[in-house]
Amino acid sequence: MSTNQQVIDYAEQAIIHTYNRFPVALDHGDGVYLYDVEGKKYLDFAAGIAVCAFGYNVPEFNQALKDQIDKMIHVSNLYYTEPMAKAANRLVEATGLKKVFFTNSGTEAIEGALKLARKYAYTRDNSSTDHEIIAMHHSFHGRSMGALSVTGNDHYQEAFRPLIDKIVFAEFNNLEDVKSKVNDKTCAILLETIQGEGGIYPASEEFIKGIRALCDEKDILLILDEIQCGMGRSGKMFAYEHFGIKPDIVTVAKALGCGVPVGAFVAGEKAEKSLVPGDHGSTYGGNPLATAAANAVFDLFEKKNILENVNRVGAYLEQQLLALKEKYSFIIDARGMGLIRGIEFTCPVGEIVSKCIANGLLVISAEANTIRFVPPLVITEENVDEMISILDGVLAQVQA
Ligand SMILES: *Cc1c(COP(=O)(O)O)cnc(C)c1O
Repeated sequence: MSTNQQVIDYAEQAIIHTYNRFPVALDHGDGVYLYDVEGKKYLDFAAGIAVCAFGYNVPEFNQALKDQIDKMIHVSNLYYTEPMAKAANRLVEATGLKKVFFTNSGTEAIEGALKLARKYAYTRDNSSTDHEIIAMHHSFHGRSMGALSVTGNDHYQEAFRPLIDKIVFAEFNNLEDVKSKVNDKTCAILLETIQGEGGIYPASEEFIKGIRALCDEKDILLILDEIQCGMGRSGKMFAYEHFGIKPDIVTVAKALGCGVPVGAFVAGEKAEKSLVPGDHGSTYGGNPLATAAANAVFDLFEKKNILENVNRVGAYLEQQLLALKEKYSFIIDARGMGLIRGIEFTCPVGEIVSKCIANGLLVISAEANTIRFVPPLVITEENVDEMISILDGVLAQVQA
């Protein structure tokens, strides 16, 4: 048997140090709890960063993966498979859009959406190639050169310039600012329906409806990144449903495979025909294992009545977080939707997060001053009470 420290030292000698990981080596999970290699138990309010929607060791999900593994794991995109056909149709139904391209990650879904937008405008404007994309400050879309180029964070971009050209940044939830940046060359406006890494900021109804109208008026594609806030986390399958609008392209990943790497971009009426054979591809994208996972996820959403749980427990979590805000003057805001929420502090939250982990609670930050709550979507009110009791104990200690 290994200790946490032994695993950490063994990993550090061979892994490039791009993460300051927490000093814990996790071993297995069950329900909404994870266990480290020394047997210590953690209540999980991070879900592998908004991925593990059903928690861990879910028999029906595991069985669906095992069944597919025994049939075939991979065949490439030179052939059709039934799991892929089914997953695509279910995503079309869930998004209300038309056609799907499967990827292996969220970042790749963004890459594909950017390429689609450029191709759309190339066709729209008689093969001209100088189109602009408007993205938001404080956004997060991934770390590849394309996705990084539309991520509104100077610190992430700095050392990696030059990035892709013709990206213009505007202020999130400021319609006038976006309008002032639109011109004849604009081909797409990209935003997260709820900004995740940037601190859990939902789009305002006025903003997102205004952007939709602007895109319609100017023949611009609206790309919504729902990699974090989609797949039920906001209380609807996709967060844009709260506002009665649809994007032209939506990006999906994280909970789509509940831990099996799978992402997708889904295009609506206007954008679905832009990409043609030769324009885009992926060896793994949508392989039978990945899409069997997505199919099992859609099955379990229905079977476990996940949206109902998110709305009920999400409302309860909101009440409890608001109560904490009343109690501690260093908490200055509580915001979010469903089971994607944040509480903002007057100070960085690194020490609080570390103390929570030491006390058996996994939470994560979003920006320096906000604690983020993105638990498995199956959590109960009792799990919320348990989380609040640990967090409250830590906050009382930090205050003193
Ligand atoms: C996580 C995330 C991404 C990147 O997804 P990866 O699977 O890490 O490549 C992109 N956009 C948003 C909003 C995310 O939360």
